[in-house]
Amino acid sequence: MDLALREEELAIRDWVRTFVEREIVPLEPEVLRRERAGEPGLTGATLRSLQDKARQSGFWGPLTPEEYGGMGLSAVLAALVERELGRSFVPFVFGGHADNILYDANAAQREEYLLPTIAGERRSCFAITEPGAGSDAKAIRTSAYLDGDEWVITGEKTFITRGNEADFSMVFAVTDKQRGADGGVTCFLVDRDRGWTSALIDTMGEWGPASLSFEGVRVPRSAVLGEVGQGFALAMRWIGQGRYLLPARALGSCERMVEMAMEHARNRVTFGQPIAERQAIQWMIADSAVEIEALRWLVMSAAWQVDQGLDSRHAQSIAKLYGGIKANEIVDRVLQIHGGMGYTRELPIERWYRELRLLRIYEGTDEIQRRTIARNLLRGHVSIRGTL
Ligand SMILES: Cc1cc2nc3c(=O)[nH]c(=O)nc-3n(C[C@H](O)[C@H](O)[C@H](O)COP(=O)(O)OP(=O)(O)OC[C@H]3O[C@@H](n4cnc5c(N)ncnc54)[C@H](O)[C@@H]3O)c2cc1C
Repeated sequence: MDLALREEELAIRDWVRTFVEREIVPLEPEVLRRERAGEPGLTGATLRSLQDKARQSGFWGPLTPEEYGGMGLSAVLAALVERELGRSFVPFVFGGHADNILYDANAAQREEYLLPTIAGERRSCFAITEPGAGSDAKAIRTSAYLDGDEWVITGEKTFITRGNEADFSMVFAVTDKQRGADGGVTCFLVDRDRGWTSALIDTMGEWGPASLSFEGVRVPRSAVLGEVGQGFALAMRWIGQGRYLLPARALGSCERMVEMAMEHARNRVTFGQPIAERQAIQWMIADSAVEIEALRWLVMSAAWQVDQGLDSRHAQSIAKLYGGIKANEIVDRVLQIHGGMGYTRELPIERWYRELRLLRIYEGTDEIQRRTIARNLLRGHVSIRGTL
């Protein structure tokens, strides 16, 4: 059993680590200021210039296949990259990325959607959730019917990330009510100028998802991504593409926050002693360290299973569930160790506190992950003894 990283893996991790320290972390005060003024943390121009800077060092499209100009990193490396990015709350992502299901595009769609999305010229959003269908995605009611050579789409979507900025949506609609999710849901690529509208949803975090409205939006037959009726499988593939990456990012945030908590504990004196000397504080640090270590290996194990071509869904659900719960407990402890200062907007802890709460909700809530994990075990798909 070899748990060590190879030299080239260490080099990539270290490059990202330095990039985050030199280019991303210094932007934090400005990002906080902008967000608190109700503006996006990073302007489009700043994001692009950071992405270009990374590209000059060859860092472009970490998960994008090499044939499309990306780096085609392994899942283990992608998790390491995400963990380094998670050290900062600055909403930075590397350029050169497209949604995994866009690679199912045919030749024409490839030119119109996939390549411009990778190049950063177009922006997509993934729209399955509806006011009446979240965890129970099979209950979607947005429908599409054929009228001559055009599909006519009608329905409402909600909580769609980038829904207000995207210039096209990958929208899922029922095209055969009898078959429903089992062969009756289709994915359409729909340009905004076809007539769908969006409205921002205000949330407790800095993420601004949107509701989308389709009222008889007409698209040609060529707007179908993949095959008619096979959209639900595409949706599940999109959702499952990188479940290990969400807790990987949270892992980086937790590591940084506990470093902040230890620094504060060493310096903050009460009753004549640094609070770091108090067992109550030490136990919070120790519990956080144990959980961070466990999360690190859950994330790496899930990523490793992806790289081995194993069925990693169970491991990914475990990592996502554990990461969501523990990151929320850890940020709460870190806030507690900082006392009143932790509750202020002078420090970014309250921002992390709000952002990390989302991890327990999107891309499968805690309860849905537990449901999946228990079902896998009870139905005998996986063993409680794991893979060892
Ligand atoms: C910021 C943000 C961004 C998002 N981005 C996107 C996006 O880009 N695209 C997209 O399509 N969607 C997106 N979503 C939607 C997200 O995936 C859903 O919110 C999530 O799946 C939960 O669905 P829901 O909100 O309808 O809650 P519900 O499904 O109504 O669940 C409510 C509660 O009941 C629990 N529950 C539900 N069913 C069961 C059960 N069988 N057993 C036990 N408990 C259960 C849930 O766990 C939850 O606690 C986003 C959401 C947010 C908040």
